[in-house]
Amino acid sequence: MESPIRIVPINAVDGGFLDRLALCLEERFLYSVRVERPLSVPRSALNNTRQQLFLATLTAKVLRAHPEPGGMLLAVTEYDLYKTSHRFIFGDADEGQGVAAVSLHRLRSEFYGETPDDNVLFQRALKETVHELGHALGLKHCFNARCAMYYSNSIFETDNKMSHFCETCDQRLSRTRN
Ligand SMILES: [Zn+2]
Ligand SMILES: [Zn+2]
Repeated sequence: MESPIRIVPINAVDGGFLDRLALCLEERFLYSVRVERPLSVPRSALNNTRQQLFLATLTAKVLRAHPEPGGMLLAVTEYDLYKTSHRFIFGDADEGQGVAAVSLHRLRSEFYGETPDDNVLFQRALKETVHELGHALGLKHCFNARCAMYYSNSIFETDNKMSHFCETCDQRLSRTRN
């Protein structure tokens, strides 16, 4: 059977990091998760003045590379992402197309002038991927600041939330999956 969740690394993303992420996502969603081969997106795809990648450009490339229907695609990129009306985004998801994206750029401690910390990066990435996959499965934002579906506008809010859903969101999710 095909993997319902397929992680698509954009260019080089640490393999150990992605395998660990895949395991944690399997635990949380009880879906099989597979890491696909990296998809090459050259720096020339970035918006030249912003030095950021436009979300729609990324999702179009991911969908073009993986046109098979079914399951969910999760792009993980080092590029800083933005979309119309958002200066930057940690990630995004399109429920209809079954595609989600998470950027590691602003999850790294060094982005905030702090010492690089692999564990901090991993926890933040896990929270944001759980959040986006939650959207891809139909969940909306949650008002519980500890819930993974809480909308974080800043890294402090990401650090403050858990890498799993609150009871209400959990119940919503199991109802949609029955
Ligand atoms: Zn969200
Ligand atoms: Zn919640």
